[in-house]
Amino acid sequence: MTGCTKVSEGCDHCYAEIFAERWRGVPGHPFEQGFDVRPLARAAGPAAAVAEAKRIFLNSMSDLWHDAVGTEFIARVFAVMTLAERHTFQVLTKRPGRMRSALASDRFWEMVRDAVLDYGPPSPAAEVAIRSRFLPNL
Ligand code: SF4
Repeated sequence: MTGCTKVSEGCDHCYAEIFAERWRGVPGHPFEQGFDVRPLARAAGPAAAVAEAKRIFLNSMSDLWHDAVGTEFIARVFAVMTLAERHTFQVLTKRPGRMRSALASDRFWEMVRDAVLDYGPPSPAAEVAIRSRFLPNL
C-alpha cells in the first residue's frame, strides 16, 4: 500500500509524504495520486514465491494500520507473512493502538487463517503461528 496521513508530531517531517507528493499527477507513476492512502492488491501477493531469504520492510511509504486500510486487507498481509516463513518482515506503525487491538482479537486471526487457506493448506508452522498469534518472522 502507499500513502498516509499525519497522526503525531513524529510525522512533522515525513519523508514519505515529501517523496510521494513530488509525483502527484504524473500519469502512470506509482505515486500518481501523491500521498493518498491506497491499498495495492499486488502488495498482498505471495511474497513466498521469492526464493532467497530477504529482510522485507513493509510500509516504508505508508502505515499498514491506517484507519483507511480495511482489516481484511491487513489480515491478508499477515497471511502472506505467515506463509513466507523464510523472510523476515519489518512493519513500522505510528498507530500501535489499532495494531494491538487487532492482534489481540480472535476475529483478526480467523481472517488471517481464511486468507492463508486461499493459498492452499497451511504448513504445520503456519498453523502454529496462527494458533499462537505469533509470527516468528515478524
Ligand atoms: S505515520 Fe509514518 S508514513 Fe504516516 S504520515 Fe506519519 S511518518 Fe508519514
